[in-house]
Order: sequence, then structure tokens, then C-alpha cells
Amino acid sequence: MIKKEVKKSLIKAIGKSKVFDEKEYLITYSYDATRVEYLPDLIVFPENERDIERILKIAYKYKIPVTPRGAGVGYSGGALPYNRGIVMVFTKMNRILNIDTKNFIAEVEPGVVTYELQNECEKKGLFYPPDPASLKTSTIGGNVSENSGGPRCFKYGVTLNYVLELECFLVNGDKIKVGSNVIKDVAGYNLKSLIVGSEGTLAVISKIILRLITLPELRVLFRVDFKSLSAGAEFINKVINSKIYPSVLEFMDRSSILASSKYMEVSFDNDINASIVIEVDGNEIEVKERKNRFIEVLKDYEILNYEIAETEEEQEELWKIRRNISPAISGLSPKKINEDIVVPVSKIPETVEFINKLAKEFNLLIILFGHFGDGNIHTNLMVDPDNPEEMRKSEIVLNEIFRYVISKKGSITGEHGVGISKKSFMKYQFSNREIELFKQVKRVFDPENLLNPGKIF
Ligand SMILES: Cc1cc2nc3c(=O)[nH]c(=O)nc-3n(C[C@H](O)[C@H](O)[C@H](O)COP(=O)(O)OP(=O)(O)OC[C@H]3O[C@@H](n4cnc5c(N)ncnc54)[C@H](O)[C@@H]3O)c2cc1C
Repeated sequence: MIKKEVKKSLIKAIGKSKVFDEKEYLITYSYDATRVEYLPDLIVFPENERDIERILKIAYKYKIPVTPRGAGVGYSGGALPYNRGIVMVFTKMNRILNIDTKNFIAEVEPGVVTYELQNECEKKGLFYPPDPASLKTSTIGGNVSENSGGPRCFKYGVTLNYVLELECFLVNGDKIKVGSNVIKDVAGYNLKSLIVGSEGTLAVISKIILRLITLPELRVLFRVDFKSLSAGAEFINKVINSKIYPSVLEFMDRSSILASSKYMEVSFDNDINASIVIEVDGNEIEVKERKNRFIEVLKDYEILNYEIAETEEEQEELWKIRRNISPAISGLSPKKINEDIVVPVSKIPETVEFINKLAKEFNLLIILFGHFGDGNIHTNLMVDPDNPEEMRKSEIVLNEIFRYVISKKGSITGEHGVGISKKSFMKYQFSNREIELFKQVKRVFDPENLLNPGKIF
């Protein structure tokens, strides 16, 4: 428990309206989207860099753990206070400081919601592509700390590809700047790449400079339905190799579409066992050509049905099915163990088959969907935590899946991060020596293990 003296110091340093230890606050900030609970001792809401510095200095003096938090919609427990202490919530540092149309950069505070930044950029004809499905809630600070991806990352790359510069605070309250606001910069070690995706364990990010690109003139979205799961999975490679240059290549299995259709109260064709969502973008000529070429590809392939969404409204409707899968399937069982494994795209069909075989063998409902264009398969084990047999089986299945993914030269996580939930699987992807190196890096930044302790390893 934190001493009264600490709370007093914090209130004196940043003001009463930014420090809370009432039970309702502690409970609210003890969760993220993993639905695991770790209770903090204190919640603080910095409103500027001076607040961050003062909070960190006080926490460092009293050796209290600090866990940075954005919107708390992380899927690996990254924002949870594993060792209690202070949760530093960034939702009040949510200003877009500048969108520079001459240099194609945006300067933002970490609490800016991803979707809001995208909208503001679009108003100026600019595009910030990283688009996690949680974009209407998640913050840029959270996205940077998890190196988030999303459907459009297939063509445009992940968050790291858009981070130019970060202003950060080290655990003792010292301020640093990593990267720079120009695209080409090879001076010194690349600390920016180390901090992006470090899950709040190395530094607290206070300002972010992002690279923007020109907004594509047009977008067209397709949904293609398949009678068989394997036909859908195989189609991914076909599309990648047919010079359509899709900006999105998303996959949904039968259970995902069924659940999302029910959730949205729209009809469902009972013959569907897989669907692919494909987007092409570009200028008018490019989009027309890519659309026609795609329709030609479809003729050579055994599909059940397809639809095209040309207007913004039609596209929004189609996206809703994909984006509502997560909340929709959450209602199917008391617990959803949500993994985001990655395999090389050529291995997708066999991986899907492998997981389905395991599901049948262990009599578990495993729902598959996700960013298959870059090999990122969201694998959801639907279980009941009060059923010990089901939990035992799910543990065996998870271990099998992770071993398989690594044997195919993939990764245990493509975008959700390791946090708390994937710590025990790190040994499949990294040697002891490699994990020891991670720990050494952590010690350089945070010798006393106070910044978001208990995460990654
Ligand atoms: C329905 C749903 C769909 C999702 N879809 C996707 C998807 O398509 N792609 C994807 O990549 N993820 C997805 N996610 C996961 C999640 O939304 C992302 O990881 C997102 O980036 C989390 O943002 P957040 O603001 O909620 O961060 P939080 O969950 O609050 O925090 C995430 C991590 O960032 C750290 N952090 C936050 N702010 C700072 C800061 N200022 N300085 C230092 N560290 C900080 C925290 O300590 C924590 O480790 C999804 C989640 C949900 C619930």
C-alpha cells in the first residue's frame, strides 16, 4: 500500500483534481480488454509534461511502480498494474498539437484517440494509415507502445513505420527525445524503434510526431464468401499474387461472421464457411483497373458470393461486420482467450487446418479471423473459466499452437503485445540468451524495475 505521504506529495505537485484513490477509480482502472484484474493503489491523470515529470520524480523517490495507460483496450494486460502502485492515465493529454500539411507530419499528445487523428488528417487531405480495429477508442500512446497494426497495415505498414520522433520521460523523471521529425535519420542507435512496442516498460511517452501520407482518392471494398474454410484461406495467396495491390486483406471464419451478423441483426447465409474482405485504393484509374482485375480473378475461383461496397456508407456497413467480431464473439462464452499469432502468408492454409484439427480433437470452439494478408491470425479460444477440464484443454491447445507457429517461422504476437498474457510463451520464440538481453535492456532504462513491472518477461 502507498503511504498517505505519497498521495499528499502528488496532490501538492499536480493538484487534487488529478489524483484519485477512491475504490470506484481503483476498480475502473484495474481492467483492460483481457478482463483480468490487478488493483492499483492510486490513479493519476497528467495534463501536461510538467505533471508527468513530477509524478515520476515522486514515484521514483518512494520506489513505487508506475503503469502508463491509454484507453485500456489492450489485449495483453499491458496497462494493468501487476505490482500495484500508480496507474498514469493519459486520456486528459489528448490534444492534436499540429498537423503540418507542408511537411506531412502530425504532432500529438499520447491520449489522442486514433480515429480522431485520422479524421483530422483526412480533412486536410492527409492519411494516417495504422488502423487497429479498436481505433475508435484506442489512443496513439497505446498504439505506439504496442506497435499496433490493423487491416490497412497490410499495404501501409504498422505504427512504427509512421513514428518519427518521441518525447519521453525516463523512470526517474528525466526527459529524452528519440528519433527526429525527418524521414531519413541514421544518427546514433535507433532508440525510437526500441521504445515503440516496448509496452510502457522503458519510458513514458509524452509527445509523438507522426509521418503522414497523401490520402488515397478512392477506395472500393469487396466481401467474398466461400463455402469452405480452406478455400477462403487459400484465396489469400491467390489475391496477393494477382497484382491487385490490396490495401486490406481480412479473413473471417463462419463463427465470426455468424456472431457478428447476429450482433448487428443482419441476415446470414447458412452456406458461408469463410469470408474475405478486400479493399483496393488509389486514384480513379488505379481503383477501376484493380477492381476489374479482381472481378476477373473471382471468375477463376470457386466462390459462393461476393458484394462490392463503393460508397462510403456501403463501406462503413461492410466494415461493421468485421469490426464487430470481437464484441460479438465475446458473448459466446464466459471467457475469450484471444491470441494474435503470425505465420508466413504461404503457411496460412495449413495453419488454419492445424488449428481446426486441434479444435475438433479437444472439442473446443476456436474462432479464427484477422489480418490474414500479413499472416496475422486472431485465434480465439472460447472457454468457461469455471470449467477446469476446458481450461486444462485450452492450455494444451495454446501451447501446441504457439509451438507450431514458431516451427513455421512465425511469431507468438503480431500486434497485441506480450504484456502479462503471453509472458510464458516467450520461451518458444526466444532463447535464454535473447531473453537475458531483453532484461539487460530493461535494466539500463529502469534499474529498479519500477516502470510497468511484470510485463513481457
Ligand atoms: C475490440 C478490439 C479490437 C482490437 N483490434 C486491434 C487491431 O486490429 N490491431 C491491434 O494492433 N490491436 C488491436 N487491439 C488491441 C488494442 O486496442 C491496441 O493494443 C491499442 O493500441 C491499445 O491502445 P490503448 O490506448 O487502449 O492502450 P492501453 O491498453 O491503455 O495500453 C497499452 C500499452 O501501452 C502502454 N502505454 C499507454 N500509453 C502510454 C504512454 N503514454 N507511454 C508509455 N506507455 C504507454 C501501456 O502501459 C500498455 O503497456 C484491439 C482491442 C480490442 C478490444
